[in-house]
Amino acid sequence: MRRLTPKLPFSVTALCDELGEMRGRPIMLMEWDLSADGPFGVLISREHEDVIVYQAKTTKAHQAHIILHEVGHIIAFDLKGERPPGEVERTCYSDRDERDAEIIASTIMYQAISMSRRVRSHGLDEPWRPSVYNSLVLTDGAA
Ligand SMILES: [Zn+2]
Repeated sequence: MRRLTPKLPFSVTALCDELGEMRGRPIMLMEWDLSADGPFGVLISREHEDVIVYQAKTTKAHQAHIILHEVGHIIAFDLKGERPPGEVERTCYSDRDERDAEIIASTIMYQAISMSRRVRSHGLDEPWRPSVYNSLVLTDGAA
């Protein structure tokens, strides 16, 4: 898990591809016209893949955040070794699950932003590659 190295320019799609390859379990992204009063993203865990359905009617930046949030759930499940059994479609999680997913989503976002800044300000040829996982800390209940 520590080998994850997002490439530049940061792409959520590429991140999901790489993550899927590493886990041996593909992550499919599906843009969909979700109803406006429903959730922005839905994670569907199938037997051999995870499908992230995200709202089509919003900005690219928001879509990236939705996808990262769901990726956060996937990573949190992987790290905890817990996974909803069988084919499960979930839009609602416990507060703890939501917090873990948001922490992971914002960590990935922060890493991506600081990585692009560093590359830009130092004019590096070789992208600086931090491991997103190295900086992931899942808090243990104490808020
Ligand atoms: Zn969530």
